[in-house]
Amino acid sequence: MRSAPQSASGDGPGLSAAASGLDHLPIFLQLRATPVAVVGGGQVAERKIELLLRVGAHVTVIAPRLCETLAARAAAGSLTHRAEAFAPPHLEGMRLIIAATDRTEVNAAVSAAARARAIPVNVVDDAELSSFYFPAIIDRAPLIVAVGSGGQAPVLARWVREQIEALLPATLGSLARFIGERRKRVQRALAPGARVAFWERIVRGAAGMRILHGDAHGARDEFERELHAAQLSGARRLGEVYLIGAGPGDPDLLTLRALQLLQQADVILYDRLVPEAILERARRDARRVFVGKDSNCEARRAHTDQAQIEELMVRLARSGERVARLKGGDPFVFGRGGEEIHALARHGIPFTIVPGITAALAAAAAAAIPLTQRTIAQSLTFVTGHALDEQTLDWAALARPHQTVVFYMGVAHLEHICARLGAAGAQPTRPVALIERATLPGQRVVRGTLASIAALAREARITPPALLLVGEVAALGAEATAAEGPVDLEGHLDNPLVPAEDTREH
Ligand code: SAH
Repeated sequence: MRSAPQSASGDGPGLSAAASGLDHLPIFLQLRATPVAVVGGGQVAERKIELLLRVGAHVTVIAPRLCETLAARAAAGSLTHRAEAFAPPHLEGMRLIIAATDRTEVNAAVSAAARARAIPVNVVDDAELSSFYFPAIIDRAPLIVAVGSGGQAPVLARWVREQIEALLPATLGSLARFIGERRKRVQRALAPGARVAFWERIVRGAAGMRILHGDAHGARDEFERELHAAQLSGARRLGEVYLIGAGPGDPDLLTLRALQLLQQADVILYDRLVPEAILERARRDARRVFVGKDSNCEARRAHTDQAQIEELMVRLARSGERVARLKGGDPFVFGRGGEEIHALARHGIPFTIVPGITAALAAAAAAAIPLTQRTIAQSLTFVTGHALDEQTLDWAALARPHQTVVFYMGVAHLEHICARLGAAGAQPTRPVALIERATLPGQRVVRGTLASIAALAREARITPPALLLVGEVAALGAEATAAEGPVDLEGHLDNPLVPAEDTREH
């Protein structure tokens, strides 16, 4: 009954299927007003029918009975129902056949009848009986990505679809429509050689970004500006800056938007807190420029260095580059992001800000310490532990119980911080935790009290980057990990003084 498997020997010219590894042709079929038959009226059939109706096919369902939804569709006139058992003549005049019954012999009969009439046929979940397969689709209509495995591994295809799904912004369809509506105009306005570069700038630049963020008005303005610039030959176009929070270090903790923009940028400016594993997620051919200093903390950077970075960003953007300014954690938490956007705005450079997971959040998760907890900690404060004497911190407020205080950049001044808190009224037994290199290889957690932590840190040789977390919740985290035994924090045993072995693959 089954037709012989297709020859892979490739008697004609060109690559044989075996040699190319490609034995199905991925195509997109136009089925509007085309007669299509579906044999079977259950839920499996329903999923395929919904898809066929969406693309405007004329669907005939051959099945003695229909499930509720399909019966409603038939009653509404959206499809034709033939309430009969399948017989080969049902396929006359059809252009595509789908068999979705739960009876193997019926599916086989449909397949044979379709093949005898040279009509493409899909038998749901039966690669051998099918001459075509449904791919897993990522729908950003009119943009569609289809993933297939030749019917061999549909679950794998679906997994790949999920990965791509997560990478592509949900609003990509609007961008495809935006471009579609303007294609003719650009064809008239620009010479063929200039069009590809122009569309690249739209897709990857500010206009595309605006559409993806739902700002149609702004996108139209950007588009007009770009088109105008492209028409004035030799006119220099302005680049832009993406101010991106890179998170605490683990590349999996980048946001999807950070990843998207990293894939677009021509130049990456990064500092010390951004590890190689994150830079690897950038476009392969992007230029990387290290703008960190020896110090682990941005706040220590001398003013002139900061000014140089700002100058560099402005200069690169002015020369038309898309610049990704990658910052550890979040750009607006002890990151000098505010100063940088101020400089960009002063020079009229367009910019986009992408928040990142700040170190305190990552460190708390890594140590299983909830930052707030009903009745125990009702507020959360992020404090810079750098240049304490120049700060105007309210130590009495920071020393009060029932709150969590997280010190960034505090390792070098640990003793000083604990002493100041103590002098302001905090109990020496107040629980604290020191989290070093949160989410990075070699992450460590040291627990103690205000009185003991400085000595413990010295013993364990804790170095930046590390965070000091002060508050009742620090003990909660310890209880949780003690009660449950070593918590699997991606392979980090939670023993205060023993550096945890890093078991992650890198
Ligand atoms: N903008 C960053 C903070 C920059 S200040 C953010 O939002 O996270 C630098 C300080 O952040 C370091 O001295 C350290 O206290 C903290 N830090 C950054 N990354 C860290 C990490 N992976 N683990 C622990 N602390 C970290």
